[in-house]
Amino acid sequence: MRKPFVAGNWKMNTDNHSSVNLAQSIASGSSEIAEKSVSMAVFPPFVYLPSVIKALNVSNIAAGAQDFYFEQNGAFTGEISVSMLKDIGCTFVLCGHSERRHVIGETDELINKKVAAAISGGLLPVLCVGELLDERKASQTNEVVTRQVKNGLAGLSAEKISAVTIAYEPVWAIGTGLTATPQQAQEAHELVRKLLAKMYDARLAEEIRILYGGSAKPDNAAELMAQQDVDGLLVGGASLNADDFLAIIRAAV
Ligand code: PEP
Repeated sequence: MRKPFVAGNWKMNTDNHSSVNLAQSIASGSSEIAEKSVSMAVFPPFVYLPSVIKALNVSNIAAGAQDFYFEQNGAFTGEISVSMLKDIGCTFVLCGHSERRHVIGETDELINKKVAAAISGGLLPVLCVGELLDERKASQTNEVVTRQVKNGLAGLSAEKISAVTIAYEPVWAIGTGLTATPQQAQEAHELVRKLLAKMYDARLAEEIRILYGGSAKPDNAAELMAQQDVDGLLVGGASLNADDFLAIIRAAV
């Protein structure tokens, strides 16, 4: 039985004050939600991670980074390593978010290095995959998602990938208000789970959590998570409002 997982990606939003306020509101609002019923995480901007982690305090909410670099240390100006993120108390990292793929230009090869580095360094990667609108219109969704999952996990053993969460995030649904229908989400999630069973084994595929992301909101969260293979949500815009994010978490319980 997979425990649901709800995560908030704050992207390049909030400031020193509002990031702490948001973390405190989410922490206090979720204090009654049992840790065993749902996993929760927030992904603030790098610079606010230490104060957000402090504000989350003894809550059941984990913190994660939106990005990092795969090398351990050295002459990589501007980059942040896995060990630095571990050092300040991060648990999760996003790998291959669509904005990093399509705005910053990250490739499957780089994303694969990041997934491998995160696991080796003791962070839990959330590998994001998903098709562009043109790719969906051209019936290429399965092909794109299959390629991104295969390439993102290339070379990783079954033992290693048990640390991974997959997030299916159709690019056309991210930040657009155009949520995938529960059926569209289920079809893609089922595809990913079958692919994992083929790449590894059926037992492992049953254990790996697959989140949906793309304009998830309090009013569509329950229906999306009611799908058999939708194990939680990666939430962007709605995670910047504590009440909305808490309502989405409650829909998972
Ligand atoms: C995201 O950034 O991963 C995301 C799903 O954003 P939004 O919920 O705003 O579509």
